[in-house]
Amino acid sequence: MSDTYLNYIAGEWLPSNSNETLVSHNPANTKEIVGYIQKSTKADVEKSVESAKKALNSWKRTSSVVRGELLRKAADLLEEKIEEIAKTATLEMGKTLVETKGEVIRGGAILRYYAQEGLRKVGDTIPSTDSRNLLYTTRVPIGVVGVITPWNFPIAIPIWKMAPALVYGNTVIIKPASETAITAIKIMEVFAEAGFPPGVVNIVTGSGSEVGNSLVENRNVNAITFTGSNEVGKHIATTCIQRGAKYQLEMGGKNPVIVLNDADLDLASKLTVSGAMKHTGQKCTATSRVYIHEDIYHDFKEKVIKEVSNIKVGPGVAEDTFMGPLSSKSQLETVLHFIKKGKEEGATLTFGGNTLTDEEFKDGYFIQPTVFEDVENSMAIAQEEIFGPVLCLIKVANLDEAIELANDNAFGLCASIFTRNLGYAFTFVNEIDAGLIKVNGESAGVEYQAPFGGMKASSSHSREQGEAAKEFFTSIKTITITPS
Ligand code: NAP
Ligand code: MG
Repeated sequence: MSDTYLNYIAGEWLPSNSNETLVSHNPANTKEIVGYIQKSTKADVEKSVESAKKALNSWKRTSSVVRGELLRKAADLLEEKIEEIAKTATLEMGKTLVETKGEVIRGGAILRYYAQEGLRKVGDTIPSTDSRNLLYTTRVPIGVVGVITPWNFPIAIPIWKMAPALVYGNTVIIKPASETAITAIKIMEVFAEAGFPPGVVNIVTGSGSEVGNSLVENRNVNAITFTGSNEVGKHIATTCIQRGAKYQLEMGGKNPVIVLNDADLDLASKLTVSGAMKHTGQKCTATSRVYIHEDIYHDFKEKVIKEVSNIKVGPGVAEDTFMGPLSSKSQLETVLHFIKKGKEEGATLTFGGNTLTDEEFKDGYFIQPTVFEDVENSMAIAQEEIFGPVLCLIKVANLDEAIELANDNAFGLCASIFTRNLGYAFTFVNEIDAGLIKVNGESAGVEYQAPFGGMKASSSHSREQGEAAKEFFTSIKTITITPS
């Protein structure tokens, strides 16, 4: 019998009042149960919001330096539990231990970064037209923050939302993705052990439509920070606007790479393939489309196929695995749907495209890394987010055509170019519609101290991480003092 995990509300570990649980399966072997989580209800959410609201006054009066110290303690505890937390995440959603351990390390770094943030300035003094006046700004917490997170970065995303929320004096309720809720509970254990006062951090697990939605609709939740699909994001924005709550959305991507005829093709092919296939392509920042200069199309393609053929697919816990399974049955169905659609629309399936049928893989959601050629930019596989290990190769005549096709898309999260020509690189940086840009680098991956977020349909146009997080998690007060 696997363990049953509880909600954490007002400093106590509690079952849901529904008395029901949801099961978490291992996507590498669905016969294996990872554990059970609470199937919470609106009443559980209300209780957690009440607890966060009650804790708010004393938490916001606590010095940010002291709040930062607690984050530093959480970083130490998180790092001590690296093996346990990484393994839980790998068992829950499939990616490799190298990837989940990397997430724990990043989580620790983010916690330490925001611990320091407790020591940095929160306002400015501004010259007044009346020289007697003191005109200045300060920042205050927004209040109770609802954190809604996806399953694909089950460790880093909850932490990069909770850490800034907490250091700036907000109290938090997290509703993690159901597929990776046990990982989120293990992170909450770290916060609980670090000594955050009761009610400052809370977790409530259960379905998005009930628990997530109740959090979004609750009038005592002052802000929602969300990472996930565009469909759910739109619903959250609409609800938040109606009740005057602040919101922040990080959503999908369809990230292009451009390879010019002067590029280092070994580097370009290696980083294109890792950008597309690592995390089994289940990243908002994954490389999805490659625009390749016609002069080097053939050579680049050969190198891509060679790289892809060397990819070892297997369970995330195996040491030699490069690509784990997809995270769920619905993920597998979506990816297979797009592969079918690509073939129907006339693209050529050059590599992969099938599930793995060997005995050792039959109970998991394993799929081959997949490459399409002869892709038209208007095809679904070139326009829509697949969220799987599928790469589209598209031939172009020059940089202008590549940028035009790359920008002809609803999303604008990240983009990358491979070239040795500085002029081309700057043209790309200036012209491309993307919030995160690389020159001679993988589309995915940005350092945690820098702003993260996308343009167009990829976000609500705010940024997370680094100093940018302050904009969302605080409100500015402008004060004029006239000595009487
Ligand atoms: P999702 O289905 O939108 O779920 C995200 C979260 O929202 C989950 O916790 C989910 O709960 C919850 N939710 C579902 N319905 C809700 C509702 N009606 N009200 C409130 N919350 C609700 O997304 P996903 O499938 O987990 O993640 C994949 C998506 O995330 C992709 O589109 C990907 O591009 C995007 N993503 C973006 C970024 C970025 O930074 N831009 C990073 C990572 C992922 P349940 O799990 O219980 O359904
Ligand atoms: Mg989902």
